This record gives sequence, C-alpha cells and structure tokens, in this order.
Amino acid sequence: MRKTQSPPIVQAQALWKRFGPLAVLKGVDLNVAERELVFIIGPSGSGKSTLLRCLNRLETPDEGIITVDGIDLLSPKTDINKARQRIGMVFQSFNLYPHMTARQNVMLALRKVQGRGRDEAAEMARAALERVGLGERVDHYPAQLSGGQQQRVAIARAIALAPRVMLFDEPTSALDPELVGGVLSVMRELRESGMTMVVVSHEMAFARAAADTVVFMADGEKLEEGPPDQIFGAPRHERTRAFIRQID
Ligand code: ADP
Ligand code: MG
Repeated sequence: MRKTQSPPIVQAQALWKRFGPLAVLKGVDLNVAERELVFIIGPSGSGKSTLLRCLNRLETPDEGIITVDGIDLLSPKTDINKARQRIGMVFQSFNLYPHMTARQNVMLALRKVQGRGRDEAAEMARAALERVGLGERVDHYPAQLSGGQQQRVAIARAIALAPRVMLFDEPTSALDPELVGGVLSVMRELRESGMTMVVVSHEMAFARAAADTVVFMADGEKLEEGPPDQIFGAPRHERTRAFIRQID
C-alpha cells in the first residue's frame, strides 16, 4: 500500500555468497521501497543474516548488485564508511560499551564518524534516547538497564545517525519474553515515522501487524514474497507452509 509511488531505497540483484564450498546466497533479489517494512523469515541457516550483512557490506557478495539510496555499495570507488552511515543496523547482541552511559554510547559514532562537537552530539543523543523511550535514563550504564532497554539504546545509537534504512537482525531474540514488547513498540513507532526497514525476526505477530512485505527464505533462496496476509494466510510454497505451521 505505502510502497506504490515510492522509489526503491535498497536494490539487491542476483546476490551470490559462498563460504568455501557452501553457497549461502544463491541469486537473491531484494527490493525495498522508501518507507516500506520488509520482514524476512526462514529456517535457521537459510542465509537471512548473510543477506542483511551484505546490505551494509559486513559481508561482500561474490556476485550481484547492491545499491542503497542510489549508492553502488560494491563499487571500489564507494567510500564504504560514508555509505554505512545511511544504513543503521541492530543485532541480537546490543554491543554497548559497558563503561559508557547510554548517552555516551549513542554519542560515540556522532563524534567519531560524523565529527559532531560534544554539545551537539550530546543533544542529538538525548533526542534519540527520548525517541526510544529512554529520556529518563540517558546517564545510566548498560548494567543498570534491562536487556530491552539496552537494545533500545542500540536502536537509538543507530537512528541518531539519521540512516535512510534500518536493518534489524533478530533484535528481540536475546530478550526475556516480558522485554520483547517494548522493543517491538519502538520498532513500530519507527515504522510509523516513515523509516525504511528490513527486519529478520521470529516475531510473527509483529510481522502480521507491521510488515508491508514478508519474504520467506530457505537454503539461500528467496522462495516466496508477498503481503503478510498472503504469506501467513495462503502461502503458495510447501516449504513456507511447513515453516509457518511449525512456528505458530
Ligand atoms: P540465518 O541467519 O538464516 O540463520 P546465516 O546467514 O547466518 O543464516 O547462515 C547461512 C549459512 O552460512 C549457514 O550454514 C552458516 O553456517 C553459514 N555461514 C554464515 N557465516 C559464515 C562464515 N563467516 N563462514 C562460514 N560459513 C558461514
Ligand atoms: Mg541469522
């Protein structure tokens, strides 16, 4: 619905990635329109993380084309550190610095990568933490925060850099069940604010409610793609059906 007139932010074509003899991505295409939320599901080992990691070049595909916000990510001429500022990524593990407060963690990239001054970075960090509901906790250290709050700091750290797209790799998988909701509601708000998002997750209820497009991957291939109603309600591929039956 929202994707109709929007230009694509992410265009990945015919991506191949091999680790030694193992082909992990076998010609995968992925297009993500501006403001779209694409949700990727599939069995463990199907290549979901590898695909996301290719999208900000934590992995380099062996073949294929990736453009993000018009930038050719695989060109040797591309300044990858600069390009990465447009691509926020949130992992299962939050990777916060334990000796730094929430605000200092968020400030770090603003200072180091974007060269912001201390006061400006501090204010941007405060605003980002406010956006994820942690305005009252900017001076807390990671150990003083719950896992869900730490993950929200990690989201704030990414959005503070004003990315054009956010990639989430199983952002709630390490959390106790009672902490999952807070992270998902932050993600839902990000989506409502118009952020383009690619999410790998097992939170099927969230996918049904928030995704524009659901992609099912298996064995390094995109087997099926469509709106959540279709993928969850009337999957076409037997493997999609089997996967959804097992996860529900
Ligand atoms: P998923 O996220 O869907 O579980 P991954 O992308 O993590 O799948 O992994 C896909 C396959 O690639 C798995 O078989 C995994 O063991 C393999 N793999 C991932 N990263 C590496 C790596 N750096 N070296 C070797 N094999 C890898
Ligand atoms: Mg994974």
